[in-house]
Amino acid sequence: MWRVINYAESNDCRCTIQLNYLGDLFTGNCGNCDNFCHQIPVEDLTIEAIKFLSGVARCK
Ligand SMILES: [Zn+2]
Repeated sequence: MWRVINYAESNDCRCTIQLNYLGDLFTGNCGNCDNFCHQIPVEDLTIEAIKFLSGVARCK
């Protein structure tokens, strides 16, 4: 079940994930899947996460 969830939430090329699952090594991008055509920009939220966790720790 977790593989389906990881597949659905992944930003990696769908063909890479499917072929790796089937035991085939495909390291490139297919150029056709939704993740390739509509790449989601990656944002670094480390500082926000530190602030949030710091607040949680202070609340005990
Ligand atoms: Zn792809």
